[in-house]
Amino acid sequence: MSDKRIIKIFDTTLRDGEQSPGASMNHEEKMQIAQALIDLGVDVIEAGFPIASPDDFKAVQEISNNFKGAEIAGLCRCNDQDIDRAWDALKQAESPRVHVFLATSAIHREFKLNMSPEEIIENAVAGVARAKGYCDNVEFSTEDAARTEMDFLCRVVEAVIGAGATTVNIPDTVGYATPAHMGAVIKGLMDRVPNVGDAVLSLHCHNDLGLAVANSLAGIEQGAGQIECTINGIGERAGNCSLEEVVMAMRTRSDFYSCDTGINSRLLVPTSQLVSRITGLDVQRNKAIVGRNAFAHEAGIHQDGMLKEPTTYEIMRPEDVGFGKTDLVMGKHSGRAALADRARQLGFELSDEQIRVLFKQFKLLADSKKAIDDSDIAHLIERQLASADSEA
Ligand SMILES: [Zn+2]
Repeated sequence: MSDKRIIKIFDTTLRDGEQSPGASMNHEEKMQIAQALIDLGVDVIEAGFPIASPDDFKAVQEISNNFKGAEIAGLCRCNDQDIDRAWDALKQAESPRVHVFLATSAIHREFKLNMSPEEIIENAVAGVARAKGYCDNVEFSTEDAARTEMDFLCRVVEAVIGAGATTVNIPDTVGYATPAHMGAVIKGLMDRVPNVGDAVLSLHCHNDLGLAVANSLAGIEQGAGQIECTINGIGERAGNCSLEEVVMAMRTRSDFYSCDTGINSRLLVPTSQLVSRITGLDVQRNKAIVGRNAFAHEAGIHQDGMLKEPTTYEIMRPEDVGFGKTDLVMGKHSGRAALADRARQLGFELSDEQIRVLFKQFKLLADSKKAIDDSDIAHLIERQLASADSEA
């Protein structure tokens, strides 16, 4: 291996993703997704929130009992009952992780928890200690960290690492951060928390401003070692950091980030399609990496360039993320080179003159029809060849 840092991918499709309005999954579907995540090569599967419902408990328990090859995490609030219930669901896992969270921002302290800063620290330490009694692998999340005063956040992070947390997650729970802001939060923790080296810092960014992927990457640049994300970016409200985007950003720009992940990128599209089918949440056509148009080119200049050398207009190869091949969409913006190429693929060897005539007819048809498929093109060619025969 090279000197690239390997970033842990913590997938929360089955927990935060399942909280997407309209995306609940049944038990069987959760098992299918868990298998797909194992195949994809994620490091951690957050399987659910065991105390939230009997269904959640059962899903976490069954995934813990039956799936190997990734750590299995269960979420719990920072109290004994939640932590005990989470451990009960996780205890048979090959590699269990208890994930405890408590809000740290002033607004959550005052209005939601009615707790003083000192009480927050006391509770956080007690929660980590209780989880640690069950399991060495404990993650602590400082909910709403992005809106927490930096001095206080440093104190909480130091205290929970001191209590034994092996991962400390820094969530932008409400999707408020910007990349420079999130980068500065992680840098501040790396610089100021004396025992920061004893734990992995993690990001969990929401996408309310469309910045979840950018914010996660900004944290990675400053030394964070884990990203929490979901397939297709599903999750509460506008969703979470999208797994496929953040993974391919680090891989495609490894020259810049000097990072990679253990993800088998060729399974990104099949996994995206599985999650979309199960949740009923469509993937937008122009979505980066996995959208239907992500590797489709229609403009003539682009199609011509693509046929000469794919890297003229593509920074990734479609087959590397699990698409069959680049899709040169034939429409009114398409050029002669793409049409000639398509005719060849359809099995027709045409002269330059025949291509010239075909291109004219193709443009006429494209004006009246939005997308032209292979059978339309074959039809135009057959007609031209037939009329040539009858003239001869
Ligand atoms: Zn979340």
